[in-house]
Amino acid sequence: MECRRAYALEHGIQKFEHATTTNPFAGRVICGCCGKIYGRKVWNSTDEQLRRLIWRCNGKYPAKGEKGCASKHIDDGVLYQAFVNVFNAMIENKDYFIGKWQEGLENDNLLHRYKSRQFIEIMTRTEVMIVFVN
Ligand SMILES: [Zn+2]
Repeated sequence: MECRRAYALEHGIQKFEHATTTNPFAGRVICGCCGKIYGRKVWNSTDEQLRRLIWRCNGKYPAKGEKGCASKHIDDGVLYQAFVNVFNAMIENKDYFIGKWQEGLENDNLLHRYKSRQFIEIMTRTEVMIVFVN
């Protein structure tokens, strides 16, 4: 709870618990330019043909008179594909990562030990994910 509170404070998230239940990436995509979180937006919501789901830095359009973040948006499908690619790379190198997490089981931080155990369990019983097609 302490970690979540500090994380939410650092990235300007008000309802972290709520955000993560609506979408697995909500509250987890951090802007490399300004450190704020990326939010999921719908473009052309009225025209089904042109409708697009994108992720954009929440600092992009601040209050009038303030300079917005210069980062670019990410297409929803690109974000999912990036996750799948990284996840598959971890599976392909699972021995390396499991070794790292086994070291994590000795960590002084309880949360670090808990997460290390979770990752070991997930990685030992998971195969490469099928490529996401948007
Ligand atoms: Zn930003």
